[in-house]
Amino acid sequence: NPMEGRITDLGPRYYGDFLPPVIKENKGKWLYHEILEPGVLVHVSETGAKVFTVRCGSARLLTVNRVRLYCDIADQHCDGYVRFTTRNNVEFMVASEEKLEALKATLLKHKNVLPIGGTGACVTNIVHTQGWVHCHTPATDASGPVKAVMDDLFEYFGSMVLPAQVRIALACCLNMCGAVHASDIAILGIHRKPPMIDHDRITGVCEIPLAVASCPLGAIKPAKATNSAGEEVKSVAVNNERCMFCGNCYTMCPAMPLADPDGDGIAILVGGKVSNTRSAPKFSKLVVPFLPNTTPRWPEVVACVRQILVAYAKDAKKYERLGEWAERIGWEKFFEKAGIPFTDKSVDDYRLAYDTWRTTSQFKY
Ligand code: SF4
Ligand code: SF4
Repeated sequence: NPMEGRITDLGPRYYGDFLPPVIKENKGKWLYHEILEPGVLVHVSETGAKVFTVRCGSARLLTVNRVRLYCDIADQHCDGYVRFTTRNNVEFMVASEEKLEALKATLLKHKNVLPIGGTGACVTNIVHTQGWVHCHTPATDASGPVKAVMDDLFEYFGSMVLPAQVRIALACCLNMCGAVHASDIAILGIHRKPPMIDHDRITGVCEIPLAVASCPLGAIKPAKATNSAGEEVKSVAVNNERCMFCGNCYTMCPAMPLADPDGDGIAILVGGKVSNTRSAPKFSKLVVPFLPNTTPRWPEVVACVRQILVAYAKDAKKYERLGEWAERIGWEKFFEKAGIPFTDKSVDDYRLAYDTWRTTSQFKY
């Protein structure tokens, strides 16, 4: 136990303490696993032991009542053990087929809040970031658009009818703590306006050299300015032409906010993946430069994600991920089939395009 001799109570407890006994006993002995039906897996050990797992979608941001429900079901069926996946699904594990049937029967009673699914060629739970609830730099909300998109795609959570798995992620700014850089479909909050400088507060709440140094494009320089009381103060000036609206300066200096109702919105990227099965991992590519933040249900974003997913489902070969499909047919065809207008902003290595986009390596023709 690596925690032996530990002299502090800081940090989480040793993860091994939370493993169900059957998992501990069969460590390193698992032979294979199978998906028995959508949301239900079996792992088989060389000792003959089996673990049946039922995966359910969670609401991502959870109430205490919902966590209590998970714990009650885990106590009733799984000796008190329960786990969460990296995509915010909750998993209940049992060691026999009889226990599996009893567990499934209980979960079906709660199917509105514990839908079974999220395995194989499906749209599993969407990972997302903090959004308007918590973070300081978002250009869109996180749980709001994700809830709207997932409600619309719910039929794909409990089934496995797609060519391969489709991983969707949302990050509410391009700091991207939400893995959108390598997702099949990525929903990304973007700002489109430079920071607004609050000359009244800047000397009180910011270190000006730090704000200047925070800009990756060197767009900020120290400058004298006049505050609302008509006094001359030390402040900064932003070269708007150079700004890429990243929000780094706002992270360093709260007197430089850039959130704006008209400027902020969502870009859609597609074709990324982390897996190295069949083809190397890929970064997602921009395909829709801007969609508005139409609260509370983001209809433009929902429609766009569905349109891309349906085109992929119809046209891709079995096991082909979205990016592999787009590369096989050529990105030009991807835009055509997905019904998305193509713009110069959609080519990330654009160069030498005198009268055609086809000089880029992104295109096959
Ligand atoms: Fe904050 Fe950006 Fe992360 Fe969203 S993606 S939580 S805005 S840092
Ligand atoms: Fe520089 Fe980014 Fe701030 Fe623009 S938003 S001034 S690019 S740090």
